[in-house]
Amino acid sequence: MILVLLGAPGAGKGTQAEALAAATGAAHVATGDLFRAEIAAGSELGITAKSFIDAGKLVPDEVTIAMIAERLARPDAAERVILDGFPRTAAQAEALDRAYAASGRRIEALLLEVDRDALVARLTGRRVCPSCGRSYHVTNRPPRAEGRCDACDAALITRTDDAPETVAARLENQLGALETVVALYRDSGRLGVVSGSGGIDEIRERLATAATAVGLTPR
Ligand code: AMP
Repeated sequence: MILVLLGAPGAGKGTQAEALAAATGAAHVATGDLFRAEIAAGSELGITAKSFIDAGKLVPDEVTIAMIAERLARPDAAERVILDGFPRTAAQAEALDRAYAASGRRIEALLLEVDRDALVARLTGRRVCPSCGRSYHVTNRPPRAEGRCDACDAALITRTDDAPETVAARLENQLGALETVVALYRDSGRLGVVSGSGGIDEIRERLATAATAVGLTPR
C-alpha cells in the first residue's frame, strides 16, 4: 500500500514519516529530500529545483512527477511506501492514482493537522544536519550537544527555505495547494485526519493508530 502523509510545511511530516517507516518497514520517500540530494549533487534537476525552493514555491509538476516515478520504480518501494511531501497539487495526486490504477495498489492519505502559529514556530526553529539529513528543533527536539548532529557530529544548519522571510512565502504559496489535495482524498473517501499538535511521541502514537486503521500495520 501507499500511505500519503499530508500536512503543511512544518507539520512534522518528515519526523513522523521516518518513525512510522521504522515501525512498519515501509520505504520513506520524501520529495524534499530527493530535491535536496539533487541540489547537493549539482545536477540539472537540482539547479532547476533550487530556484523554486529558495523562493518558497513548488517545483513544477512535470519535474516533480518524473522524479518521484523514478524513485517509486526502485525495488524497496514495491510493497509499502510512505510518501512525504508528495502529492502537493491535484495534477500530482491524479498522476499518482493513474500510475497505480491498473495494479490495484491501495493509496490512502492521512493529514497531520497543525495550526498556523505552530507551523511558523516549528519551521523557524528547525535545524538540519547537512551531512545525514537528520532534523532537529531548537526547543522541541534539541540535539544532545548544541549545534551538532547526534548521529554524525556535523555542525547543524538552518535550511535556506526556513529563513523567516521564506517561511511566510512558503505558507502563503502552499496552504492553498494543500487544501486542494486534501479535498481530493476526502472526496474519494481516502482521508484520515490526525492532530499534529503536541509532543513528537504523542503525535507518533496517534499517527501509528490511524495508519494501522488503514492497513499500514507495525512489523
Ligand atoms: P519539504 O522538505 O517537503 O518541505 O520540501 C522542500 C521544498 O521542496 C518545498 O518547499 C518545495 O519547494 C519543494 N517540493 C517538495 N515536494 C514537492 C512537490 N511534491 N511538488 C513541488 N515542490 C515540492
